[in-house]
Amino acid sequence: MNLNVCVVDRQKPSMGSTAASTAMLQWELDKSLTDLTDLYGFERAASIFHRSLAAANGLQAQIRGLGISCQFRPRSSLYLAANEISASDLLAEHRIRERAGLPGVYLDHRTLMSEFGIAREAAILSPGSSEADPVMLNRGFLDRAVERGARIFEGTVSLRNR
Ligand SMILES: Cc1cc2nc3c(=O)[nH]c(=O)nc-3n(C[C@H](O)[C@H](O)[C@H](O)COP(=O)(O)OP(=O)(O)OC[C@H]3O[C@@H](n4cnc5c(N)ncnc54)[C@H](O)[C@@H]3O)c2cc1C
Repeated sequence: MNLNVCVVDRQKPSMGSTAASTAMLQWELDKSLTDLTDLYGFERAASIFHRSLAAANGLQAQIRGLGISCQFRPRSSLYLAANEISASDLLAEHRIRERAGLPGVYLDHRTLMSEFGIAREAAILSPGSSEADPVMLNRGFLDRAVERGARIFEGTVSLRNR
């Protein structure tokens, strides 16, 4: 694809909300698969989760493929039981994720304590996420884009003039 690309930013790139990111590149969504299923039905909800997993995998592949130095580390994530999320809620979430073919294991209280020293009722341990320094990651992608002909301008775009 032969694209003519320019980036316009009123400040130094990466200094917006990217600099505030807590660096988690997680495929799990803010809403559980159980809640999404209530909203959209199982097939659509499972598809949303699979797209998120594919996006996380794709981003990891891009980082590796382009050789971007950004303190990238593969990580698993722990979805912990809390006041409003009981162990049985988590078990139901784990089962619906299994049905959707998503990776992860259910940890009961004893296993969670012995493996992680965390005193919660239960958790879901999921592989496939990662962390990276968001500013280094963003600048790495921008550097690669510039090497391929993209141009970066400092300035303000007024949407009203469009
Ligand atoms: C506290 C916090 C923690 C977060 N943690 C995570 C996390 O762990 N994992 C995760 O995936 N996401 C996280 N996020 C979300 C993530 O940081 C953002 O979704 C992401 O950085 C957005 O990138 P962006 O390039 O779209 O926006 P930004 O990084 O905000 O860049 C937008 C740029 O556009 C410029 N701009 C705006 N309007 C104009 C204009 N009219 N003309 C010219 N320039 C303009 C701004 O000045 C800015 O530099 C977090 C966000 C916050 C605030």
